Amino acid sequence: MSDDTHEVYAVCYATHARKRSENYIFGDPHDEMTSIAYYVWVIKGPHGTFVCDTGFDEAAAKERARTIIHPVGEGLKALGVQPDKVDHVIATHLHWDHAGNYDLFPNARYHIQDIEMAYATGRCMCHQVLRIPFSENDVLAMVHKVFAYRVEFHDGVEELVPGITVHKIGGHSKGLQCVRVKTKRGTVVIASDCCHLYSHIDEGRVFPITYSVGDTLEGYKTLKKLASSRHHIVPGHDPEVLKLYPAVKTGLENWIVRLDVAPKI
Ligand SMILES: [Zn+2]
Ligand SMILES: [Zn+2]
Repeated sequence: MSDDTHEVYAVCYATHARKRSENYIFGDPHDEMTSIAYYVWVIKGPHGTFVCDTGFDEAAAKERARTIIHPVGEGLKALGVQPDKVDHVIATHLHWDHAGNYDLFPNARYHIQDIEMAYATGRCMCHQVLRIPFSENDVLAMVHKVFAYRVEFHDGVEELVPGITVHKIGGHSKGLQCVRVKTKRGTVVIASDCCHLYSHIDEGRVFPITYSVGDTLEGYKTLKKLASSRHHIVPGHDPEVLKLYPAVKTGLENWIVRLDVAPKI
């Protein structure tokens, strides 16, 4: 493996059944039930292991009526990653389903955009409709990490190590960032919630929880520019990811898949 080439994995940990219309602003004419998946992502390479987002725990799942299938820590261990040995966590944004499990990585430094921290601790949180996707305890945990000198702030585009860059996209959350990773199959973009489902980017549709519709739509264009192809963009909540990409090994099907090998298309 060269100095800037990485392995990338998606680790699914939870699911939620919902009406298809709940996934789009302006709804959907097909009102059948569907499901969304919840993931964290792992990047392994010559500069160590980076975990992208931290998911949520059982207490948060219960509070928001989600179903955890494999706790995040269990998924990481199945991939050979010991959470207490992880040095870097990339926080794409601070929504509850991405920023929980905040004690799982006691030795990690956290990477976040300036604007996301300001957004989650500022005047917008005085508005109920903008506060819904945030959990007060998750945000407070990040504030505690700031005061423990464990947070690295980024502004726009920054290289974390050769082959891994973060890019502020905004839209769904004001300081949302995606992660661009060089792999042996080309440049993969972990979109996180810059694109929840493939249908969002393919059809120009928008998830209902959104700070800025305009920035979300412009963000799709940026994702396409950053990735080697549309098939190198990994949406944040699409269950299809588990079908398109191969399991890491037998026994991990529908749980942990490799994103640095070509999808079945
Ligand atoms: Zn989100
Ligand atoms: Zn999300």
